Amino acid sequence: MLETIDRHAASTAEVLGRDHIDPRVMAAVSRVPREQFVPEDERHLAHGDHPLPIGHGQTISQPFIVAFMTDLLDLQPAHRVLEVGTGCGYQAAVLAELADSVDTIEVVPELAAAARAQLARLGYANVRVHVGDGRLGLEDRAPFDRIIVTAAPERVPEALTRQLAPGGRLVIPVGAGPWQQTLLIVEKDEEGRLAERRTIGVAFVPLVAGDA
Ligand code: SAH
Repeated sequence: MLETIDRHAASTAEVLGRDHIDPRVMAAVSRVPREQFVPEDERHLAHGDHPLPIGHGQTISQPFIVAFMTDLLDLQPAHRVLEVGTGCGYQAAVLAELADSVDTIEVVPELAAAARAQLARLGYANVRVHVGDGRLGLEDRAPFDRIIVTAAPERVPEALTRQLAPGGRLVIPVGAGPWQQTLLIVEKDEEGRLAERRTIGVAFVPLVAGDA
């Protein structure tokens, strides 16, 4: 799995400014047992570089995308991170390996419960799983040094840029079409000004309206 992640990374050298994923990110990915986050009948596929179904019409992200987005976040050990779209909790575990704390929001309560149980089983004490509409962020835990969104809205939700700390960074897939989006990096400078950069084309499930 690590090898295929590396092969992909060579093709995104322009965005990363280097032809490989940060070794710290690769080490984090290698420490998280991906097979523990996929349904039992998918386990034999857990180490291929592709997304897999996890129920409720949702998927676990492709390992390369998890590594690439984590790399774009440029995580530091002191960072407080918000993830929108917990799914099975795999990306949250990778983030938890590299940051101080991770708050992750999932709109489907059953997925949130399963992710919470799995993360606890694996000992990720620095991850909190919340049920709710991630388009609103998590006001009472803000600001966040880093925000990662793993489902795609049509435009960047205003609450998320608001909850970004000065010097903070948001990585988010944005696009009008389902399964066809651009991965954006939004940075907030010390004065609170936002700047946006486009990276690669990606295919995420839509960020839906929640009733939470
Ligand atoms: N991060 C996951 C991939 C998640 S797939 C991984 O590690 O593999 C996207 C997830 O976003 C799905 O579980 C979906 O239910 C969730 N989602 C969609 N709209 C949402 C919203 N408004 N708020 C929070 N989660 C949402």
